[in-house]
Amino acid sequence: MATVRRHSHCLESVVTTVKFSSLPLTPALLDNIASLGYTELTPIQAESLPLILDGNDVIAQAKTGSGKTACFGIGLLSRLDLTDFNVQAMVVCPTRELADQVCNELRKLARFTQNIKVLALCGGTPARPQAESLAHGVHIVVGTPGRLQEHLRKRHLRLDNLNTLVLDEADRMLDMGFEEAVSEVISYAPKQRQTLLFSATFADPIRELSRKFQNNPLTVSIENNH
Ligand code: ADP
Ligand code: MG
Repeated sequence: MATVRRHSHCLESVVTTVKFSSLPLTPALLDNIASLGYTELTPIQAESLPLILDGNDVIAQAKTGSGKTACFGIGLLSRLDLTDFNVQAMVVCPTRELADQVCNELRKLARFTQNIKVLALCGGTPARPQAESLAHGVHIVVGTPGRLQEHLRKRHLRLDNLNTLVLDEADRMLDMGFEEAVSEVISYAPKQRQTLLFSATFADPIRELSRKFQNNPLTVSIENNH
């Protein structure tokens, strides 16, 4: 497993900045990003986004608040085919609150992209309206393991056209006992896909999860970013 590791805890370390405008993104996506006031990539974005945009499976570890959502968000938005109203990207999150945050960030990143459909699929709200939204066509789903499992079992959610699978806050999903549900959800996904795994920590169970579901993953770890 290849590792790209940056230690930025040393005060003397050279800080290089990367601008979004240097990335191979469409003008529309760059305009969206600029409109949010994002100009420079955060360290985890600078390390992981080029690898993600190249289509690699990536494990990315960095502390909370370091901008991990935009790493996978920009990755999956950059390969979205808006004319295809089948689910092309799925983000699995441990809690409804986190799924809602991810949905909001994705909608922000795509706010000038017309007709893009991002749907939250979490428990605690009725499943039927979610199934109806799925039937109308959705590009991206963001959900919690239990509710995703339910829609997949009932075939309301189909993943035949899925190209990007994201496991966000994977450490928390394992802590919360979601390993089996996550495994079942992933079993519905095509083998040919990009799988991105995000975590604030890097314990052995995370590496095990990666071994099971990723293909030649590259590891990016920001030890102590300021
Ligand atoms: P994490 O998932 O690592 O905890 P988030 O993706 O939730 O972090 O991002 C934390 C905050 O940083 C969000 O409010 C997001 O809008 C903001 N953010 C992300 N990337 C950038 C950037 N490149 N420049 C400025 N703000 C950013
Ligand atoms: Mg996050």
